[in-house]
Amino acid sequence: MDRRTLLAAAPVLAAGAAAAQPAAPALVGRPMPKLEAEPFLPPERRVGFAVVGLGKFALNQILPAFGACRKARLAAVVSGDAGKARRVAAQHGAPATYSYDSFEEVARNPEVQVVYVILPNIFHRPFTERALAAGKHVLCEKPLATTSADARAMIAAARAAGRLLMTAYRAQYEGFNREAIRRVREGELGPLRLITSDHGRPVKPEEPADEWRIRKAIAGGGSLHDVGIYAVNAMRYLSGEEPAEALATMTTDPRFPEVEDRVTWQFRMASGLLTQGSTSYSYRETKRLSVLGEKATLRMDPATDYDLRRMWIAPEGETETEVLLPLRNQFAAMMDHMAGCVLDGTAPRTPGEEGLRDLLAIEAIHESARSGTWARVAAI
Ligand code: NDP
Repeated sequence: MDRRTLLAAAPVLAAGAAAAQPAAPALVGRPMPKLEAEPFLPPERRVGFAVVGLGKFALNQILPAFGACRKARLAAVVSGDAGKARRVAAQHGAPATYSYDSFEEVARNPEVQVVYVILPNIFHRPFTERALAAGKHVLCEKPLATTSADARAMIAAARAAGRLLMTAYRAQYEGFNREAIRRVREGELGPLRLITSDHGRPVKPEEPADEWRIRKAIAGGGSLHDVGIYAVNAMRYLSGEEPAEALATMTTDPRFPEVEDRVTWQFRMASGLLTQGSTSYSYRETKRLSVLGEKATLRMDPATDYDLRRMWIAPEGETETEVLLPLRNQFAAMMDHMAGCVLDGTAPRTPGEEGLRDLLAIEAIHESARSGTWARVAAI
């Protein structure tokens, strides 16, 4: 073929080549993939929460976590500072705001089904009672109350009102802790011999969120009520048992003499299992635990952090290996659990009684530190 003939044939050859190309891909919808978790409910089917007390924990952990919720949504904020309430409501899309004085108006707001109490400890009982009287369910921060007597009154008030009361024990909705419970229950560690846990942090009295924590009249107690409670609670949920007796030593610090600083304690659990814990407002931030069984040991450090959890397991005769799990939003999981209970009419995994049991154990620790001998943990 000469050059002239070749050029004349070129468009025909090109068209032939184009016809051989596969069709250009089109944008199309595809069927719903299998979801790895429960679906996100549409806003109108979600359970509305009113968050009470816009402090450090509410602003930094809880309000942002609504973005990860599947069943719960923010319906209102309640604050003693009207300007902050308006600003926070706008930032997080809360349709209503209340002051402590106008709170009772929430009874006329059907968008609010759950009141989440995140106030300093001494206000947990009175605010829970106000929320129940307004016809709402209550999610209440730890410690449930400053005394077991107040916790009992809160449980009785919820029962009388026919509403749910849940203790906000986020660790019991967190994946690593759930996995530790599963491994213990399924016998991977064998019979348990000892559980140890240390939970403490340096208190900073000059910071607003710690100012009230060193005042007994508002906090109810010190390191034990505030952070040691994670160790007390973990000893119970990991073993699935209740403490029968406590033996403890307690010291105070001259910088904050009203409340306990360092505490060490042992529990003798109902089966004879021993646990050993410590808490403090003066050692470096520590949130760790170990479960020592006949067949394996399990260690978590940090066990109850906001952002990070790590876990290791060591079967008898083998070296320790790390257990890798995805980090999920424990605050969202906890609020979704409460929302699910409201939607399904089921009881929460951590009801008021769960908070009461820890307070009874904490009171036995105080009693033992005073008496210097084993103190019985009162029955629920
Ligand atoms: P903050 O001091 O930061 O916040 C408490 C908020 O309560 C204040 O900002 C204020 O909100 C309101 N308030 C009303 N009256 C008072 C008062 N007399 N003194 C101080 N505050 C008052 O505390 P936190 O957010 O750290 O703790 C709040 C609760 O949450 C506690 O019970 C604590 O144990 C619990 N918590 C739980 C955690 C967990 O991991 N589960 C972690 C941290 C805390 P406003 O200005 O809006 O009126």
